[in-house]
Amino acid sequence: MPFLSGNELEKVCKKAKREGYGFIASNIAEPNVLIGVLEASKNKKSDLILQLSTGAAKFAGGEDLITGLRVVTKYIQILAKKYDIGVFLNLDHWKKKDMDFIKMAIEEKLASSIMIDASKESFDENVRITHEVVKMAEGKGILIEGELGKIKGVEEKGTASAEAFYTNPDEAVEFVEKTGLDLLAVSIGTQHGVSKGKNIKLRTDLAQKINNALIDAGKEVPLVLHGSSGLTEKQVKEIIKYGICKVNKDTRYQYEYARTSLDYYFEHKDSILPPKGEPDNRDGFFSDSKWSPVKADFDPRVVSKLIRKQVEKTAEKLIDQVGSAGKSLYL
Ligand SMILES: [Zn+2]
Repeated sequence: MPFLSGNELEKVCKKAKREGYGFIASNIAEPNVLIGVLEASKNKKSDLILQLSTGAAKFAGGEDLITGLRVVTKYIQILAKKYDIGVFLNLDHWKKKDMDFIKMAIEEKLASSIMIDASKESFDENVRITHEVVKMAEGKGILIEGELGKIKGVEEKGTASAEAFYTNPDEAVEFVEKTGLDLLAVSIGTQHGVSKGKNIKLRTDLAQKINNALIDAGKEVPLVLHGSSGLTEKQVKEIIKYGICKVNKDTRYQYEYARTSLDYYFEHKDSILPPKGEPDNRDGFFSDSKWSPVKADFDPRVVSKLIRKQVEKTAEKLIDQVGSAGKSLYL
């Protein structure tokens, strides 16, 4: 089926929270990771949350953000029809400066949900900006994710914080009440980018407190964890118990992408680089040389297929960690 609306995503998240499992939200920027996670989700009978950052949208659109978003959305819509599972697209870390694009995305229904990240602003300003986007999306079938607290590390330009600021449970209740958001990203000690799970002081107690405070106030929403690529399997399984419903993964796939390419090209470098003593006649595409490069190895589709397979294997393991296998609402 094509990717679905926020109304469907709400059902999917509610069921997950009720039954105590979560979803991996997979960042994509190009087809290889996209197809890898689609295949993994199909194999595991799990619904799939995809994510697109502003940087990834720009990348896909030849540096034009809205073009990229339209192209990727269309690509997912058509591709997802081949799969029986529910496929959703979240816009990840869109900011105040992207407000015009957020408006377009809502009007053109280019996403299932949108994360408005105003976590760097003061509490009041964060409330104001997040609420503005919630209002914009009202009745349009698009969910809104907000973030409270700051997550340490580097994700993409402008999505970095030198220090982690943990989310305060009372503030979380006030934030959800005042903004009317649908999903809440919390800061409980994870880091964006590369991090080592064993060095992370993961505050599961805090996730539990935030979740309980929201439930007590009658404001329960699915919680989101960013910066979780470095978490150990045990840590992931633990946080799911405490109301975290969406676990974001980006960096992990990026590494698998680079590693798979490196391994392949390293192993087949004689197909791509001329041997020692042979002129490196790249400009003439080796037409005057005895040596020729081997198309069967440098055709990008060859390494791309290996990347897709590796992403698929990685995503299957991650799906098992959060427990969404066999739980698709649409089978
Ligand atoms: Zn993030």
